[in-house]
Amino acid sequence: MNFQNTREFAQSLDANDTLKQYQNEFEFPKVNGKKTIYFTGNSLGLMPKRAKKYVDDVMNDWANMAVEGHFYAEKPWWDYHERFSNPLSKIVGAKPSEVSVMNTLTVNLHMMMVSFYNPTSTRFKIICEEKAFPSDQYMLQTQVKFHGLNPNDVIVEVKRREGEHNLRNEDIIAKINEVGNELALVLIGGINYYTGQVLDMDAITKAGHNVGAIVGWDLAHAAGNIELSLHDWNVDFACWCSYKYMNAGPGSVSGYFVHEKHHTNTKLNRFGGWYGHNKERRFLMEPEFTPNDGALGWQSSCTGVLAMAPYLASVEMFDEIGMSELVKKRNLITAYLQFIVEETAKETNTNLEIITPKDQAERGSQLSVILHGEGKELFHYLMKEGVIVDWREPAVIRLAPVPLYTTFEEMYEFGQILKKGIQTT
Ligand SMILES: *Cc1c(COP(=O)(O)O)cnc(C)c1O
Repeated sequence: MNFQNTREFAQSLDANDTLKQYQNEFEFPKVNGKKTIYFTGNSLGLMPKRAKKYVDDVMNDWANMAVEGHFYAEKPWWDYHERFSNPLSKIVGAKPSEVSVMNTLTVNLHMMMVSFYNPTSTRFKIICEEKAFPSDQYMLQTQVKFHGLNPNDVIVEVKRREGEHNLRNEDIIAKINEVGNELALVLIGGINYYTGQVLDMDAITKAGHNVGAIVGWDLAHAAGNIELSLHDWNVDFACWCSYKYMNAGPGSVSGYFVHEKHHTNTKLNRFGGWYGHNKERRFLMEPEFTPNDGALGWQSSCTGVLAMAPYLASVEMFDEIGMSELVKKRNLITAYLQFIVEETAKETNTNLEIITPKDQAERGSQLSVILHGEGKELFHYLMKEGVIVDWREPAVIRLAPVPLYTTFEEMYEFGQILKKGIQTT
């Protein structure tokens, strides 16, 4: 498609947007009374209006029924989390029995490590990516120490090549082969939070399995953003948070995936609790832990119904739309945003370097841009003009147009504001 940097052209794309009715489903923060251009849906997604109703329902049931809500609420609390299995499985490409929700992301990664990282004297190494999200680094370091090992001996980081912003899949695979028999686990972010790069999860998972390792993925930036096939890729486990692209609100529950091939393996360690215990027998208060079938057997505590309520509202919205529709708009709007950034660079004679891969198969809805020669005043200018972006030193902004609620006209407007900001700051 031949894009144009005009309001009319952007409006024509909006007119053909099959998801446009969903814009009204969200609450937008305002700056100076004007709806903001919200580019940080990769950090905290906007609030779906339905989420409020779902939370209110739980609050009302609590007020009116108290403890009886466990069984007699319209959506009973004791198995509220099971409502996620079906819709969530479609979002991440799994079987319903392979997914559920609990805790938050880093906690779930720790829970998965209990089952899937059991180092021996010969097989103990972990491969992750260089500059992984800090929480993942801390999680790995402390897990390794918990096993009495030294992180320096265990954690192998795959590095970017000199002068390159993105990891190469072939370098990850080469590193997996090099570590070989010593490799216990590969645990990487499926989409890099900084650059927005999507890794070849299928090929990397295969490579890990070829040398006898377990392969898990952190899908914080991938769930609800790109199409995933966790079951078919034969991924061992995965976790993601719900408050980024999945719009479930601050600190809402995390989703997790355990491949069905592990479900009946009684040798795996688990940190059990009564919600992971055989559901039919949960309230018999039996002395010995016998886990539920499937991913539900990895549950531990009673589940946070108030935190799940907005996620359920959101997951149902994703289910209505389907990932393939979402991905169609995502590709188009991200391509249009790329065009706008490139046009603005030309018009202002500045170097706006997009470090996110240009190939649509290698990116989701985020573009990370280095504003060469620009300072933090430009960021403040954008924020003041109602463009919500995030800033990473030295001068990187991350822009995430979210297909559910971002318009093409906003991309055009952003270009105009950016241009003015470059010219005046
Ligand atoms: C956002 C994000 C987290 C956040 O973890 P929480 O446990 O939800 O605080 C962790 N890892 C990655 C890769 C992330 O992008």
